[in-house]
Amino acid sequence: MTAVTISRVERTFGAVRAVAGVSIDIRPGELFTLLGPSGCGKTTLLRMIAGFCDLDGGSIHFGERRIDTLPAHRRNTGMVFQNYAIFPNLTVAGNVAYGLKARGVASADIGRRVGRALELVHLGGYGERQPFQLSGGQLQRVALARALVIEPDVLLLDEPLSNLDAQLRLDMRREIRTLQQTLGITAVYVTHDQEEALAISDRIAVMRAGQLEQVGQPAAIYRTPATPFVAEFLGATNLLTGTVGGRDGDLLVVDVQGCRFRVPAVEAAVGSTLSFSLRPEALQPVAAGHPGHTVSGELVAAEHLGALLRLEVRLGDGPPLRVAMLDDGQVAPAIGRAVTVAYDPARITVFAP
Ligand code: ATP
Repeated sequence: MTAVTISRVERTFGAVRAVAGVSIDIRPGELFTLLGPSGCGKTTLLRMIAGFCDLDGGSIHFGERRIDTLPAHRRNTGMVFQNYAIFPNLTVAGNVAYGLKARGVASADIGRRVGRALELVHLGGYGERQPFQLSGGQLQRVALARALVIEPDVLLLDEPLSNLDAQLRLDMRREIRTLQQTLGITAVYVTHDQEEALAISDRIAVMRAGQLEQVGQPAAIYRTPATPFVAEFLGATNLLTGTVGGRDGDLLVVDVQGCRFRVPAVEAAVGSTLSFSLRPEALQPVAAGHPGHTVSGELVAAEHLGALLRLEVRLGDGPPLRVAMLDDGQVAPAIGRAVTVAYDPARITVFAP
């Protein structure tokens, strides 16, 4: 298992600083995801690890070995692309064998290793098929087998599921994760899909404009985002801004749109502005007079989504508060009625003033 150490890596294209001094320590055997919106630099960083894009500064090591000065074919990485990048004129087996032939592996070994790689991705018996005879999901499995057959030190995946339909994406992401864990291979995974990143990763780096916004385990960055950008990028949330009204024990009282929220205390003067994130599922409609921490407003929207009920509660002039809950049939979502919602201050993330 190989650690990947990315140190102060830089890359500029004209006026664009695509990767602006990024440092990451990826642990051996970890599936590490680079997550961020289009243009944040995640693909450029992956391509620099693969050797398809030069660095302007910094270094990349696999274990003790510095690799950013080596040509791509000497880094021992396996790469899976969004568009599969399968050679159309080779059979499935020919595609998978390609990297082994290039490395001069003996042909008896090639047959055995290709067969085993195809078994791994559940394509045993497909070796003699032509690529045009395969579905998108099967093509991506061939690409995965081709990347794994060389026994790479690091597996690199660039939006590998983006061309697949919804159900296949779920199946394939589980398969990739299972394979990566079974083989104990270090993997770097690029996606702009937060749900995919949360589901598949050991750790995630959220990128924005060429820089790291936050690095952490999926649950940690979802529950305690470091910035409003991370909070919003990882899923629906209520980003609220208000004025500090005073202290109440371990909590600060913050006035938001005429409502009083109690949030975990940070250093902030009375009268100063404070922002915080409160996820919709951390809010719960309750009866008026509920003893816990509550705010009240007018129900302005309700959506039944099968298992979930989504509500919007207008507090004042700002955007309504979003509430998401399991639909147990107990809440009568009559638009226009007054509702009280309870929250647990411990589930509020306050951003540094
Ligand atoms: P996407 O998901 O859309 O691919 P990304 O987060 O992977 O986005 P990059 O592809 O790494 O982002 O691009 C980062 C920035 O660098 C963008 O502004 C992009 O336009 C620019 N860029 C990337 N490659 C090149 C290139 N070869 N020439 C010029 N600009 C480039």
